[in-house]
Amino acid sequence: MHVDIVPVGDLPAAVKREASSGLRSVYDCEVTIHDNQPVPEGAYDSGREQYRAEEFIELAGRVGSGEKNIAITANDLYYRRRNYVFGLAYLSGNGSVISTYRLQTSSDGGFSERSATDIFADRVRKEVVHEIGHTLGLEHCDNSRCVMNFSPTVREVDVKEENLCGSCQRLVL
Ligand SMILES: [Zn+2]
Ligand SMILES: [Zn+2]
Repeated sequence: MHVDIVPVGDLPAAVKREASSGLRSVYDCEVTIHDNQPVPEGAYDSGREQYRAEEFIELAGRVGSGEKNIAITANDLYYRRRNYVFGLAYLSGNGSVISTYRLQTSSDGGFSERSATDIFADRVRKEVVHEIGHTLGLEHCDNSRCVMNFSPTVREVDVKEENLCGSCQRLVL
């Protein structure tokens, strides 16, 4: 499998590096980094001061050169009635997106002595692995340690691991 990462707007090199490394380690796939893309026109909702996640998925699917493509943005995303999303993908689609905007909030888990930089890097890795999992057909998993667990807050992101649980692995790997 080939996954193309599509950075949208300004994105630190470290984010691209962590995303790429996370995907390669879990899916053993080829990963490329696309040229930076401008934020899609019309994605901004001035009433909410947030960006529509769907527009980024569409962009990733359109410009990405992979079998699966993931947009990564530092902008704050929302989807339908949810206040925000860390990421979004359609089941078995070829485009997906994550936002780093809300992954930078300090850890509230308190179970780790690790630096904020390391915690942030782990969240980025987990979120890209999670969204690409959806594009491979995986739905949310009840196992709180599994990367496919639904994690609406960073606390739940921090609890889960970067890997797919055994049952999810058997479905896609
Ligand atoms: Zn999900
Ligand atoms: Zn699982």
